Parts: sequence; C-alpha cells; structure tokens
Amino acid sequence: MRDTDLINSIDTDAIETAIASAEKNCSGEIRVHVETTIGAHEIRSVGERVFERLGMTKTKDRNGVLIVLAAEEQQFVILGDEGIHAKVGDEFWHHVAQEMTDHFRHGRFTEGIVAAVSEAGERLAKHFPYHRADVDELSNEVSFGSSEEKR
Ligand code: CA
Ligand code: CA
Repeated sequence: MRDTDLINSIDTDAIETAIASAEKNCSGEIRVHVETTIGAHEIRSVGERVFERLGMTKTKDRNGVLIVLAAEEQQFVILGDEGIHAKVGDEFWHHVAQEMTDHFRHGRFTEGIVAAVSEAGERLAKHFPYHRADVDELSNEVSFGSSEEKR
C-alpha cells in the first residue's frame, strides 16, 4: 500500500538530524509534518492549517519553514512564514519542491525531505544567520496527524 510505503519508509531520525544541523546555521525554524491522509482536502489548505496549529507563525522573526506531507496521497507542500517568504519569493519554493518530487518519484522519501530541509536551511542561513543567543523556538521532531476526521 502506498500510504504505508511513505509512512514506514521515512526515517524520522535522519530528518530530525537534518533539521538540527540546518538550524545550527540559521536562526530560522524548520518543521516536518506528516498527515496519514488528507482525503478530498487540498494539500495547501491542510498545510496552512497545520502551519497555524504548530505555532509556525509565532517565531520572533517570522522565519519558520514547514514541510507538510500527505502520506497516502504522496503529496506535499512547503510553506515559509512571511519573514522568509519576503526574502526568497516563489521560485525558490518551486525549485525545492521540484527536487523533492524527483526523489519521491523514485520512492526516496527520506532523501527528498532531507534535501528540502537542507536547502531551506541554506537559504535561511543567508537571510537569517545563526547568532549565539538563538533559541530553538519550535521542536525539531517530525509530527504526525490526520485530516480525515475533519472532513
Ligand atoms: Ca532558532
Ligand atoms: Ca527547531
């Protein structure tokens, strides 16, 4: 089954390590969230809801980046808060999404997510460099949920 493929094959330790290492070079916050299934919902609207729910809009510099995946549908969306979005523009997200899609097509879910996390981290580092007083404002843990019951 496709959903168990993505859910079972992603290596949350590898993703959390990638997030921690990206956040060592920037003040931004990166999170990854996996929904089991989004049913008939649009991945973007689900993503925006998760963005709010995880407190992504609460960072001091509004520089949170969230990758939301729908396991069963094998869809994803990458959302940047207004601080980072103002700096990078749409092409950057399209570029990262394209790279993720290439990995996903070959079933390389973890690699795709890790690549997106590192790219987002590099870009965050450019605009929001790490400083000594930096706080880990949002957990690096991959979170899980399901939109199904809200249909
Ligand atoms: Ca931080
Ligand atoms: Ca963090």
